[in-house]
Amino acid sequence: MEPRDLSTHVPYEAGRGIEETARELGMDPDELVKLSSNENAWGPSPKAVVALRESAATVHAYPKASHTDLTAALADRFSVEDDQVWLANGGDGALDYLARALLAPGDEVLVSDPGFAYYAMSARFHHGQVNKYPIRKADDFEQTAEGVLDYYDGERVVYVTSPHNPAGTEMPLGEVRKLADATDEETLVVVDEAYGEFSETPSAVELTRERDDVAVLRTFSKAFGLAGCRLGYAIVPRDWSEAYARVNTPFAASELACRAGLAALDDTDHVEQTVEGVRDAREYMYDNLDCPTWESQGNFVLAEVGDGTRVFEAAKQEGVIIRDTSSFGLPECVRITAGTPAMTERAVEVINGAL
Ligand code: PMP
Repeated sequence: MEPRDLSTHVPYEAGRGIEETARELGMDPDELVKLSSNENAWGPSPKAVVALRESAATVHAYPKASHTDLTAALADRFSVEDDQVWLANGGDGALDYLARALLAPGDEVLVSDPGFAYYAMSARFHHGQVNKYPIRKADDFEQTAEGVLDYYDGERVVYVTSPHNPAGTEMPLGEVRKLADATDEETLVVVDEAYGEFSETPSAVELTRERDDVAVLRTFSKAFGLAGCRLGYAIVPRDWSEAYARVNTPFAASELACRAGLAALDDTDHVEQTVEGVRDAREYMYDNLDCPTWESQGNFVLAEVGDGTRVFEAAKQEGVIIRDTSSFGLPECVRITAGTPAMTERAVEVINGAL
């Protein structure tokens, strides 16, 4: 007995954990500066940590109430109906729910190249076919409706990442609207705003209040510092609650995740501190890296270093872990997560030394 033929599925390559890298380098994990996974360098919200401790005592029960509370809190925050919020096990889980709800075998989706790997993986799990549109370095990774429409051929789902990982560019709201207007009635435009809290561009959530062909993806993994909780959500068009009921894994997010999420949502100080710290770190990198960078609206900066793999390896030997972007098709670049001042300064020093 064996699993079915999965040879067309490419495993997701998560960045390695800090302990694993420390072991390989023979270093103490505390000595490492990890800026490779766009995590929150300031850690989780202290209020979320308290909520996690407190909710431990009730984990014998299914998370019905916390699910409802978090859904209502998010709906309130974005001024949408409760049933427009689809909670999930991370943003990745929300992508799966959307693919399950939208795709029939053989349906096609359109994803950006370079782009976040999980859109294509999720579509393939759900027997979809994947087409690509380019986001060009020669155009400074600019994202426009026209740039997508040039490659659009009636796909069922079009994924837009705004801010984009790894480029950091955005698709302005007007362009998202243009894209949704120009695509077929049966096409859903998914705007992935995993890094939305770091940007000043208005969210595409407002489009979900007025139309039935745009969904927005958000996560607690970045600005809220809860990547380990695996908590994300999609905001979908109105009246899709029956589809959610039919496709979701029962209790799509855990009691611990929901309670931590509720506390983190309330902790505006923590989010503000993070967003401010990220902006400072980005500026520091633009000003001090001795190589070209692109302006980023995410909690990371893409830098053109020549040979990304070599610079990644050299930085690693110094205890600084950044992201080699070869797997995104950008072997000449690295992506550096925004860190605390000490982390960012150290990363810049080591990268400049390796150029
Ligand atoms: N979208 C983008 C563009 C991302 O970079 C990530 C995380 N790396 C996600 C979605 C998913 O994040 P999570 O599953 O942790 O919510």
